Amino acid sequence: RAKEMGRNTYQFYCPEMNARTLERLQIEADLRHALERNELVLHYQPQIDVGSGAIVGMEALLRWEHPVLGTVSPLRFIALAEEMGLIIPIGAWVIRTACLQNMAWQKAGMAQLRMAVNLSARQFTGKDLLQSVGDALEESGLEARFLELELTESMVMSDVENTITILRMLKQLGVHLAIDDFGTGYSSLSYLSRFPLDVLKIDQSFVRDIAVGADAAAIVVSIISLAHSLRLKVIAEGVETAAQLAFLREHGCDEVQGYFFSRPVGALEFESLMAHATCTMD
Ligand code: C2E
Ligand code: MG
Ligand code: MG
Ligand code: MG
Repeated sequence: RAKEMGRNTYQFYCPEMNARTLERLQIEADLRHALERNELVLHYQPQIDVGSGAIVGMEALLRWEHPVLGTVSPLRFIALAEEMGLIIPIGAWVIRTACLQNMAWQKAGMAQLRMAVNLSARQFTGKDLLQSVGDALEESGLEARFLELELTESMVMSDVENTITILRMLKQLGVHLAIDDFGTGYSSLSYLSRFPLDVLKIDQSFVRDIAVGADAAAIVVSIISLAHSLRLKVIAEGVETAAQLAFLREHGCDEVQGYFFSRPVGALEFESLMAHATCTMD
């Protein structure tokens, strides 16, 4: 609107923008204290082996329990945390908490599961990553193979040589490496084969349309075959229906994750899920 009115017109009234700016300022101020006030929590979403129907892993997903706003989605504050530099301490907290929780569960006799953790771009290229992963493993006593780090295509493709160096160091620790939201970015296949990866996660946008759209179905089939030819495991995200599961199973997808099985849940609920839920694949 300001543009229509001409370059030098001062736009002095815009209540909508004001409210948004205020909310952002408030969130920004509060985010600085979220960690020390123990307002951050992890939820866990099970990952199911298509062949056996067993829960074989989980993804840790960050939540912010804001005293006024309630539960805030990571989509609303991760980017902000990146901009503010807060993602470094927050990300380290996520890795540490995920490792401690996984180890506590293993000690309590729960089946041994992989725990996947999302990394942000700034965390990935930051100098503290190796240290915080190493520290979390050491402090928790968790075996490295039970920790999986999720990266996105844009993160690994922006500086390929640097990526290879970082990934190799992480692999030396023994952790698993996954590409998240696969298919939404533009990965060069030749680079992908140079990265020491373990898992490709098919983005939920393709999974959503597999049973209804020929394009999505074709993309999913080719991602599965690409991944297997690179000896990577494939996990489909966002599986919500039996039809989607049937398609994925038919085409050899290894693991599935989505509301069809469970939403991300708090630690206590995850425990009862493990204790009581028999996951049938039908
Ligand atoms: P993501 O890593 O791709 O995680 C999958 C998202 O899909 C999660 O959203 C999950 O709750 C949601 N989801 C799972 N199953 C289904 C389903 O069947 N249907 C639909 N419609 N959605 C499903 P969430 O928890 O809101 O997280 C959003 C994004 O925020 C994540 O996407 C990830 O990129 C980021 N994120 C979450 N936790 C962290 C974290 O600790 N660190 C960083 N850097 N990013 C995080
Ligand atoms: Mg993820
Ligand atoms: Mg994803
Ligand atoms: Mg995503």
